[in-house]
Amino acid sequence: MEQLTIRTGTEYPVFIGEDVLKETGRVIEAMQPAVTSILLLVDSNVYELHKTNIHDHISFDALFILPAGEKAKSFSVYEEAIGAALEAGLDRHSLIIACGGGATGDLAGFTAATYMRGIRYIQVPTTILAHDSAVGGKTAINHPLGKNMTGCFHQPSAVLYDSMFLKTLPLREIRSGFAEVIKHALIADKEFLKEIMEEVKDLGSLNDDFLQYALKRGIQIKGEIVQKDEREQNIRAYLNFGHTYGHAVEAWSGFGKKLHGECVMIGMIYALHLSNKKTGLNMSMSDFISWVHSLGYDIHTDAPFADLLALMKKDKKNLNREIRFVLLESIGNPVIMNAAPDELNNIHDTLKREGE
Ligand code: NAD
Ligand code: ZN
Repeated sequence: MEQLTIRTGTEYPVFIGEDVLKETGRVIEAMQPAVTSILLLVDSNVYELHKTNIHDHISFDALFILPAGEKAKSFSVYEEAIGAALEAGLDRHSLIIACGGGATGDLAGFTAATYMRGIRYIQVPTTILAHDSAVGGKTAINHPLGKNMTGCFHQPSAVLYDSMFLKTLPLREIRSGFAEVIKHALIADKEFLKEIMEEVKDLGSLNDDFLQYALKRGIQIKGEIVQKDEREQNIRAYLNFGHTYGHAVEAWSGFGKKLHGECVMIGMIYALHLSNKKTGLNMSMSDFISWVHSLGYDIHTDAPFADLLALMKKDKKNLNREIRFVLLESIGNPVIMNAAPDELNNIHDTLKREGE
């Protein structure tokens, strides 16, 4: 088992590895002030697949099973979760445990952040993508007019990342989550990227030790950035690498049709091309793209540029109506730049040719 510490306004431990779930009791007992009662919010698929382990290692006073995945991030499920907390009699010293992927973490974090103006919560992430979402304290639910449009910052008290959960994750979810690992390497660590590209040839049979190492390194990279800029005033935006174009593709396709990480991969290739044009990155794209293809990522999108441009104009990073992109000056060195519609259109055409 590995342990990291994230030092934001509040400091919290992240435990990663096999059998981490066994530490739940010890971690909760060490919390100050003492925890009075516990509500467990768990993704329904995760509960079905891991019921025994969950009951064996997490003691809780009330259980609320969430709809699987993104459906948990709705106003109605939020209301039900608050209802479950009230019915269970949670007070200001109570604790919520989030057991599931990023969707569960976002809903449970938002519930904890707002119940009685804020109580503590612990993340028990169960997907690869959640190595990203469980750390950093962004919580949110969706509105019919926009994803993640209602939320706040609320850091967890601890993250318990047990690799046992990842064994039941479908390959497509592995691929989606792994895109964010690759993102962490691209924005922060050239050597790490090299290691991943050498080691990872098949996402369906990832080496356990390497996966744990990669998740730990990904969390470390995210943690270092969040520690310097908890509320995204400046460098936290680097974590958005690949997300400007990626989010547009995700929204255009209809959320859930293409998975988040699948779209982020498309967005990262786009941003690398744009970097080659604008920052002098000088990265050989053919090697990277053939590796990405070999891992099963589909970098094709049917979306017309005009639609994507309209969506990119709504990106939260934009200022004064200019589209702002996270680009790389070199691997590991991000920079934020404005980009004009013409140059964006050119890269869109390049990507279209490559995806065909
Ligand atoms: P998810 O939580 O929607 O889960 C994806 C699917 O995998 C669901 O069907 C779920 O039931 C299933 N699942 C989860 N764990 C499993 C397991 N161990 N075995 C089998 N099936 C399992 O998806 P995700 O990719 O983890 O998270 C995506 C969400 O995270 C999005 O809502 C996104 O907005 C959010 N997110 C938040 C942040 C943040 O900083 N807060 C960062 C990135 C993404
Ligand atoms: Zn993401």
